[in-house]
Amino acid sequence: MLAFISHPVCLLHDMGEGHSEQPARIKVIEEAVKNSRIISELEFYEAPFATRKELIRVHDKNYVEEIFQIAPEKGIISLDPDTWMNPYTLNAALRAAGALIMAVDLVMKKEVRAAFCNVRPPGHHAEKNRAMGFCFFNNVAVGVAHALEHHHLKRIAIIDFDVHHGNGTENIFQEDERVLLCSSFQHPFYPYSGTDNKHPNILSLPLPAGTNSKLFRDKVTEKWLPALKNFKPEMIFFSAGFDAHASDPLANLFLLEEDYAWITREIKNIAEEFAEGRMVSTLEGGYNLDALAKSALAHIEAMLK
Ligand SMILES: [Zn+2]
Repeated sequence: MLAFISHPVCLLHDMGEGHSEQPARIKVIEEAVKNSRIISELEFYEAPFATRKELIRVHDKNYVEEIFQIAPEKGIISLDPDTWMNPYTLNAALRAAGALIMAVDLVMKKEVRAAFCNVRPPGHHAEKNRAMGFCFFNNVAVGVAHALEHHHLKRIAIIDFDVHHGNGTENIFQEDERVLLCSSFQHPFYPYSGTDNKHPNILSLPLPAGTNSKLFRDKVTEKWLPALKNFKPEMIFFSAGFDAHASDPLANLFLLEEDYAWITREIKNIAEEFAEGRMVSTLEGGYNLDALAKSALAHIEAMLK
């Protein structure tokens, strides 16, 4: 079984008409899995709130308090030109981070083989003390820190194939050698980081605009797979953004659903060899609704196969 974790409040976080990071994103993914043949292999869960204690493993305490304090009771406020809070945003962000806590616990207890968190707001741009790029709390980092601190795992890999560099996750774990961060991203492109980090546990994979399936697969095979085998992770997380898809309106890479299935299978082989198959995935970007639903389904199916 695979855990599919979400919460209705994640649909109520809304950054305004026409914003790409829209509630329909998680709705189309849920519909796609419910209409697929893998439905019988999924267990649906409602995400709990992450606690302050769980958040401050990866964020500054003052930053967490600030987000609680500025959350509006009505109306909408801006944290950066792309990142807005409405009255539901704080609860959605707490549930999104809490989904990762639940996912880690379910996988560690072997109640499920793997988990997918169908949540928003996304997280990988959120730094220790900064919200940006549609992100408030770094969901994947909250999950990784829980696996390290609560479950005492010693080596965890993060595969971030979102088209944007996972600057927040890098900011949080760059000095923590228990974590190997593999982030692929279009370069040069928002947030214009990721190519000058010298820490050995940061394996950035910048890709030029126009990158297609073959180049992506060749680079992952050359740069990431040997490093992951060498690292021997005890658990593997995906920051699963699907905005490197050829149909995505925000970026200029040319990946297809099959590429998401491919990388998931490759990573699953490594998880089975070293990590008792333990995988936790969480949604990051992906803004063409049709491509997003198909790509997420391909990724989830590949985690199950
Ligand atoms: Zn993205």
